[in-house]
Amino acid sequence: MSCLFCSIIEGEIPAKKVYEDDSVLAFHDITPAAPVHVLVVPKKHIEKLTDLTDEDSGVMGHILTLMPRLLSELGLEGRGVRVVNNCLEEAGQSVFHIHFHILGGRAFSWPPG
Ligand code: 5GP
Ligand code: ZN
Repeated sequence: MSCLFCSIIEGEIPAKKVYEDDSVLAFHDITPAAPVHVLVVPKKHIEKLTDLTDEDSGVMGHILTLMPRLLSELGLEGRGVRVVNNCLEEAGQSVFHIHFHILGGRAFSWPPG
């Protein structure tokens, strides 16, 4: 199985890492859509949001509760941020290893396009 984000996790493809522990990696997006654009991924290969099971609740909760720390380390404390998951092509998913975009450093409109 070839997966871009698994290759980044394995260190086979370089990325600008911002956080790493046993179960999670965060790194800068290669094509930033905002002044700060970081991707947060579980190290376990899970294709998409709709594949999550109860087994994944620990790492998914961990990703959410890491947000305050990541935002602070990214200089976004007190700033508005957008945390996004795109699930399936119709919603814009292009890499099929579940990830959350952290977007910050500018204003965002709602609803998204
Ligand atoms: P998606 O479209 O699946 O929600 O998000 C995939 C994201 O991965 C995109 O924002 C895209 O810019 C980013 N991306 C694609 N290839 C690479 C890469 O090789 N390195 C990094 N750091 N980001 C990538
Ligand atoms: Zn993967």
